[in-house]
Amino acid sequence: MSRHHAWIGLGSNLDEPRLQVERALEALDRLPLTRRAAASRLYASRPVGPRDQPDFINAVACLETRLSPLALLDQLQALEQRHRRVRRHRWGPRTLDLDLLLFDDRRLASPRLTVPHPEMEQRAFVLVPLAELAPTLQLPDGRRVIELARELDDSGLRPVLPTA
Ligand code: AMP
Repeated sequence: MSRHHAWIGLGSNLDEPRLQVERALEALDRLPLTRRAAASRLYASRPVGPRDQPDFINAVACLETRLSPLALLDQLQALEQRHRRVRRHRWGPRTLDLDLLLFDDRRLASPRLTVPHPEMEQRAFVLVPLAELAPTLQLPDGRRVIELARELDDSGLRPVLPTA
């Protein structure tokens, strides 16, 4: 089995979001056949959609994994469940959201999984930490993450200190 690089977006805005994201970053390092190679700083961001909810805490991690994309998605969804994810409606508050952003330079489209994640290009809370972590990273079509990040309004985004 070959080794892949997978990029994960993390978000939480319920039940001590900074802790949720920090614990999830640790848990990503314990997934089978996987190690966490790097993680961005934590960022606070204003919610997309309904405004009457707390700010989100976001981060991005890079994993080295021997899992397939779907096996990794299974693991991410199981981790969301272990954080007792609450999700009342689309774009509503949630305890933990994990998105598979990129998997090597592959493009995937199946009912359960689209990679690159279809909304990542519009999200400063994804692209800014991603560009911080990997300034030379490109999407499968060759566009550079850092350039895409520069085009977005990041005024709602600010780095936050870790809990410890
Ligand atoms: P969300 O509410 O954003 O967490 O969406 C979860 C749903 O999106 C699940 O049913 C996943 O199967 C699906 N999905 C499709 N592509 C992805 C992806 N790249 N990362 C995470 N979930 C995905």
